[in-house]
Amino acid sequence: MTPFQFQRAADAADALQAAGAFGAKYLGGGTNLVDLMREGIERPAALVDVTGLSDKIEERADGGLMIGAATRNTALAENRAVRERYPVLARAILAGASGQIRNMATVGGNILQRTRCTYFYDEAARCNKRRPGTGCDAREGFNRIHAILGASPACVATHPSDMCVALAALGALVRLEGPEGVRTLPIVDLHRLPGERPDLETELRPGELITGVELPALASARRSTYRKVRDRASYAFALVSVAAVLDLEADGTVRDVRLALGGVAHKPWRATRAESALRGARAGSEAFRMAADAELAEAQPLSGNAFKVELARRAIVATLSDLTGDRA
Ligand SMILES: Cc1cc2nc3c(=O)[nH]c(=O)nc-3n(C[C@H](O)[C@H](O)[C@H](O)COP(=O)(O)OP(=O)(O)OC[C@H]3O[C@@H](n4cnc5c(N)ncnc54)[C@H](O)[C@@H]3O)c2cc1C
Ligand code: SF4
Repeated sequence: MTPFQFQRAADAADALQAAGAFGAKYLGGGTNLVDLMREGIERPAALVDVTGLSDKIEERADGGLMIGAATRNTALAENRAVRERYPVLARAILAGASGQIRNMATVGGNILQRTRCTYFYDEAARCNKRRPGTGCDAREGFNRIHAILGASPACVATHPSDMCVALAALGALVRLEGPEGVRTLPIVDLHRLPGERPDLETELRPGELITGVELPALASARRSTYRKVRDRASYAFALVSVAAVLDLEADGTVRDVRLALGGVAHKPWRATRAESALRGARAGSEAFRMAADAELAEAQPLSGNAFKVELARRAIVATLSDLTGDRA
């Protein structure tokens, strides 16, 4: 590991000042960043520990929740309001990593965790994300876990977070604070598709800090769930995951639906085509299958991951069926 300076910030203002002075990276629980530093993939000259930022989960006047960026993943999943009002979020977090990692990992760090593409972690491999302009060994290599939607010739990596998939379905907003002030961004607009610059992963401006996440008031979120399909029953990243919120009329017609997919793209993938196909339809496996087909019509699998298209289709149908009590 290369030597680096270290400073602990008391609050957001302190963190911004320290980061400005040192040109530092922010450090949450360190469960991703420290691994990357050990491997020499990231070599920051300085770290600012931001675990002193708010770790509170507070009620908002509009009936939603405000979650501090330093809230540990375990605390968020165990919070009573989250479990009762946003079960999709609690389930997504508990489907990720291990108990020990969730105890360390923060909300800010989870959102900004890096891809799990093997070649990204291998200094000997060609990787446009790690070293722009060198190529992408995953395209013709071992790409079983890679993207089927929204990828580019430059990069086919996926975003690995489970939590972000639930946040995308819930329409969460990310609170940012930086040298130019405070702003909020919908989480679906925070992460980027790779295009020609996979090294640019988010819309964050230089020095910007995540200070929290706003969950909108959403009565329908009580009927929500998360399904993760992976190689092992625990301690594995998603091959495909689905976060779903379903709001039905008394006669079983879909009043509203929110769907997001994980493990399929460079960012948490809000499945807007499937949502449009479902609104106003009679809930049931036929409508769910049509919606999944609409979303996956433009899927472009790689040499090693064509199975993901059918897996995603079945996962969407099964997740929605869980919410209606139907068996797909
Ligand atoms: C073995 C293993 C298995 C895992 N399995 C899963 C899984 O199945 N599902 C899943 O979702 N995740 C999984 N993870 C990833 C884990 O969830 C992340 O490592 C964790 O959420 C990162 O949070 P952190 O606070 O430790 O971030 P850090 O490692 O501290 O930071 C990650 C990134 O976020 C930046 N950052 C941190 N906080 C802020 C902030 N407030 N503002 C701006 N930037 C910030 C850092 O600079 C860094 O770039 C796994 C990790 C491991 C090691
Ligand atoms: S998929 Fe992206 S992260 Fe993986 S090797 Fe290619 S450019 Fe690098």
